[in-house]
Amino acid sequence: MKPGSLKDYLGKAKKEGWALAHFNFCTIDQLHAIVQAAQEELAPVLVGTAEKELRFFGAEEAAALVGIFRKRGVAVFLNADHCTSVQSAMAACESGYDSVHIDLSRESFEENMKGTKEVVEFAKKKRPEILVEGELGYIVTDASKVYREKVVIPEDSYPKVEEAVRFAQETGINLLAPAVGTIHGIVEGAPFFEELRMDLISKLSRALPGITLVLHGGSGVSQDQVKRAIALGMNSIHISTDLRVAYRNALEAKLQQDKDAMAPYSYLEPAAAAVKQLVKDMLILSGASGRVKT
Ligand SMILES: [Zn+2]
Repeated sequence: MKPGSLKDYLGKAKKEGWALAHFNFCTIDQLHAIVQAAQEELAPVLVGTAEKELRFFGAEEAAALVGIFRKRGVAVFLNADHCTSVQSAMAACESGYDSVHIDLSRESFEENMKGTKEVVEFAKKKRPEILVEGELGYIVTDASKVYREKVVIPEDSYPKVEEAVRFAQETGINLLAPAVGTIHGIVEGAPFFEELRMDLISKLSRALPGITLVLHGGSGVSQDQVKRAIALGMNSIHISTDLRVAYRNALEAKLQQDKDAMAPYSYLEPAAAAVKQLVKDMLILSGASGRVKT
């Protein structure tokens, strides 16, 4: 059966109180692992490449592969994660991405709004079904680092509700990533977080009924906090660092234990298996499992 559209799944997630999970990849075995997990869980899934991952994998290659999986009936959608310029977001639209995340959160509010609006207009002209995600407030850390001390999040890094409403109205975005207390990367010796700003999540969710709220920096957040964030209106959760850590640890263990392994499929296999397991756990936790009708 042909899977539904990304827009349909996001609409259902919002109505029914679950979340799509988004996983970053930059190798084909990671992509396969994520897709297999989604297939086995009958879950829709977002796969994403941030700019460096996109350069490493190839944008058109990623879009072509995701197209092949979709033809086979898998509800997998490709997102250009954290495009830091209008140009790179437009290039992803040209390359066949299903959604683009334009992240101008380091610019001023007005500049952010202007650039994001430009991307929305371009995407709609290119293919009306492309969804655009904007970002407000800023996440203070670097992606995929393992921090060894507690991270302090300054109060002014959180977006204001009125700003978010104006931003959504004027840009025409479909999804919004607000800073709500997560970081990129993980801190050793979790739990390290202050509480996520649950109050802000629930205010934003009520103020933005037509918008999907996206939680970035989901790695290292406790299961309980993820569940509460979803219940309050986060309908997409991004996981990247956790997968990278699992992939690398499994690969290292395999190379340690089998020093003569030469065929990449033999030593990469356990790394992909570790990714697959983590993805399955997350699809279950987010409530996405079983949402694809067969
Ligand atoms: Zn992110």
